[in-house]
Amino acid sequence: MNRRDVLKLGTAAFAGGVTLSLLGPVAIADTVVQVAAAQRFKIGDIVVTALSDGHIMLDPALFSGITPDEFQAALRAAYLAPGSYRGSVNAFVVDTGSKVFLIDSGTGAALGPALGRLERNLIAAGYQPSAISALLTTHLHPDHIGGSHREGKPVFDKAEFLVSQADHGFWSDAGIRAKAPAEAQMFFDLAVTAVKAYGDRLRLVSGEAEAVAGITAVPLPGHTPGHTGYRVTSGKDTLLIWGDIIHAGPVQFARPDVTLSFDVDQPLAAKTRKAVLEQVARDRVMIAGAHIPFPGVGHVEAAGAGYRFVPAEWDYL
Ligand SMILES: [Zn+2]
Repeated sequence: MNRRDVLKLGTAAFAGGVTLSLLGPVAIADTVVQVAAAQRFKIGDIVVTALSDGHIMLDPALFSGITPDEFQAALRAAYLAPGSYRGSVNAFVVDTGSKVFLIDSGTGAALGPALGRLERNLIAAGYQPSAISALLTTHLHPDHIGGSHREGKPVFDKAEFLVSQADHGFWSDAGIRAKAPAEAQMFFDLAVTAVKAYGDRLRLVSGEAEAVAGITAVPLPGHTPGHTGYRVTSGKDTLLIWGDIIHAGPVQFARPDVTLSFDVDQPLAAKTRKAVLEQVARDRVMIAGAHIPFPGVGHVEAAGAGYRFVPAEWDYL
């Protein structure tokens, strides 16, 4: 049967009242690629959309305070493949109804093809980059600001760029950079490039204070000097977007003492983690994490000597 015969058949079927698509071949889903990774949650009147940027492999050797065997046992207990831990990289849109904010911006081109998917998931969720009125950064690591610019030009062309004073001071300090190990120097360079891209739209925040209407900056220092969470409150609901309080969930919820080599101050990172876990478990506060399996939203409850994560259910809105 040639193309003309197919058309004739289609026309005949249509004339006979048979429902048959005349619009061309039926689309077959590409099941080899994942669907858009965006998921919404309602916090009072505010809509938060979790976005995935992709995943990052965390070598057990990066963690301190746990033996290799204990690390593998924790992965096995969570039904995960042995070896490195596959961490998510998540960011969060906060839509107040009148303004749209973005907490962190993924890796962009900084860390390879398993990442850098934030922008396409943002657009799939219905937001153009130009709709973002402020980019709120938890800290200036590449997996949180790499997607904020493309070759030094801002991706979010209408957005203010909010950074904690302490992180800005640390990562732009040429003296600290000079003393850092060679492999860490790219962190400083990326931070400076991202900050520069936003020029006079950079806004520094310090202490616990309202960052933008409806969102409070909460200092959570240790992972970096100015590591910051963002508390979203509306009506009776609260969500604490806590950035990098947890890197490897199957390990660190149960053992908050376990630290990561990327923590600028490991003892302070562990102390902050324990304090935050204790507070959100006690107060039943919903949290959202940058490296908790996508969408990275849920609750924390005390379990044994540590805690466990209870993922949030699908929100029907
Ligand atoms: Zn991170």
